Amino acid sequence: MIPVADTRRVSFGEMSAADPVIELECRPSLEVQGEHGRFPVGRIWCVGRNYAAHAREMEPDAERQEKPDPPFFFFKPATALVSGGGPVPYPPRTTLLHHEVELVVALRHGGRDIPPEQALELVFGYGVGFDLTRRDVQAEAKHLRRPWSLAKGFDGSAPCSFLVPCSRIGHPRRGRITATIDGELRQDGDLSEQIWAVPQLIAELSNQLELLPGDLLFTGTPAGVGPLLVGDRAVGEVAGVARLTIDVTPPI
Ligand code: MN
Repeated sequence: MIPVADTRRVSFGEMSAADPVIELECRPSLEVQGEHGRFPVGRIWCVGRNYAAHAREMEPDAERQEKPDPPFFFFKPATALVSGGGPVPYPPRTTLLHHEVELVVALRHGGRDIPPEQALELVFGYGVGFDLTRRDVQAEAKHLRRPWSLAKGFDGSAPCSFLVPCSRIGHPRRGRITATIDGELRQDGDLSEQIWAVPQLIAELSNQLELLPGDLLFTGTPAGVGPLLVGDRAVGEVAGVARLTIDVTPPI
């Protein structure tokens, strides 16, 4: 279906393990709305700040004034996935766990150097996720110019809803995205406020590495991020796509 990448695929050595010397405990996957089969998750890519400030968006000519910086990416291990939500233990070594509600894109095809106009052909479907963040750990890492990895990629840091295939809902360009914590609306934005839309994100990331089937992309969060406490129930929703509920439970 996609004419890109396969002929340029680089081999990095033997990838299969027909006779593994250890067994992996799990293969992360997500439920698919309306289907029995599940979506296997290979990698979780995330984009940094991707929603313009509300005030700036209200200015009709803001886009012409200034070119936004290119998107920047980080990632979480697939084992950070919390499939379908539910209980999420408060992570260790933090006192400032933050919620970031995000539209999640799931890729059915891979490729490199994907043009934006072809990028949506890679998409399997969409869901909603929380990019959970140890904000105090991230702040310290920024201050010390160290990697964010453990601020973002800890166990349980990527709760994600079921996926809705794009064959059902198309490719949402607008729609309300909210996070409600114990009944209080904390994040309230719209997908149309994304600085870099999904096709541009896929194109940009595919210029930096080969995208693969099974990749997820968390597409950034609107304003209003804030702390989660033990006992909180957090509901993330993208209107017309999916809803995700997590319950923050005591540390393990
Ligand atoms: Mn985020």
